[in-house]
Amino acid sequence: MSVRAARLAFVIAAALPAIFGAGQGMLVSTASASGFPVATDVRLGGDAEQTRFVVDLSRRVGINAFILADPYRVVIDLPQVAFQFPRKAGQQGRGLIKAFRYGLVMLGGSRIVIDLKGPARIEKAFSLEAAQGQPARLVLDLVATDRESFMRTLALDGRVARPDSVRRVEKVVRSDGDTRPVIVIDPGHGGIDEGTHAANGVTEKAIVLEFSKRLRGRLEKTGKYRILMTRSDDQYVTLADRVRFARTNKAALFISVHADALPRSEGDARGASIYTLSDTASDAEAARLADKENRADVIAGVDLSSEPNDVADILIDLAQRETKAFSMQFARTLSGELKSVARLHKKPLKSAGFRVLKSPDVPSVLLELGYVSNRSDLKQITSDAWQTRTSEAVVEAVRTYFLTQLAGAAP
Ligand SMILES: [Zn+2]
Repeated sequence: MSVRAARLAFVIAAALPAIFGAGQGMLVSTASASGFPVATDVRLGGDAEQTRFVVDLSRRVGINAFILADPYRVVIDLPQVAFQFPRKAGQQGRGLIKAFRYGLVMLGGSRIVIDLKGPARIEKAFSLEAAQGQPARLVLDLVATDRESFMRTLALDGRVARPDSVRRVEKVVRSDGDTRPVIVIDPGHGGIDEGTHAANGVTEKAIVLEFSKRLRGRLEKTGKYRILMTRSDDQYVTLADRVRFARTNKAALFISVHADALPRSEGDARGASIYTLSDTASDAEAARLADKENRADVIAGVDLSSEPNDVADILIDLAQRETKAFSMQFARTLSGELKSVARLHKKPLKSAGFRVLKSPDVPSVLLELGYVSNRSDLKQITSDAWQTRTSEAVVEAVRTYFLTQLAGAAP
């Protein structure tokens, strides 16, 4: 079969656009809301030459499968389904498959991202109606290939790997004369990208969303700011879209919220940290974390390389100098406020090349609430009392920051 024929064979149905318009701007719960097809089980078969991936479904859905390189992956896009796989599904691979993950990538769209052990070709990708006592199924057949053929298929197929299918965060432009500064809260991760995990299974994406909502409530109560969130439910948003969202809405401040984890071998770090953008990381830990956070799009199967660069480098350079100074100012204020209510990391102010902090014109910080790998941090950051007093401290820092800004702008 020629490469082109192979590509046609696995583009089964572009089912996403039809559903995409339906729920835009609404909050749709990702729980197994009634009406969505249910993915009930998953099986792997075969060996390092040929591997079969099968998903049982409550009813047949259209699928679109494509490959991504570096690392080698297969992505299967499908309409929104409720995943009810066994708890550890995806952690262990077989044959050509190293591991896989799955989840929502946008309203109406789910995705399965399969990490490959090496270059492979999609021999077949199709879905079947239920028949002869068997449930409806999604079937993916992979065959081992070499890097050259893999890259050739990828080049021919580049079109489908574009992140166009990923949800664009809605643009919110006000025309009602509201002149209050806009603050964008950015809960990290979401949907298929769960972030780090605590030993008890709690995910970073859930912790940071809960904290962000609480912070939104507290900030809104002051009546002084307009608060927007890059996500307010369990959805995946690309890093570039988070940045774009802040810029489109002319945010005066961008606060990204995360919770880190460390492998046991790297010690038992604890406490909150505040990061700002820098070309050179302030230390090895900051560099490691930025690397990890910047991989969010890889985790969700979106190629970083295909993201267009919004802003010319020279503009970034000019605007960023001022923006950086403001970001630093807010980071320092925030660390001062947090000090009295939460345990801070022994070196709480750090910098590194986080993609999500790269708005040239929006002062941006990334707040790491603490370490989910540290038992006492985890207990703190998931507790009501801690979240309440910490969000109050952020509100205080925001207040001080904008007061200083106003003072600075006065003649
Ligand atoms: Zn994170």
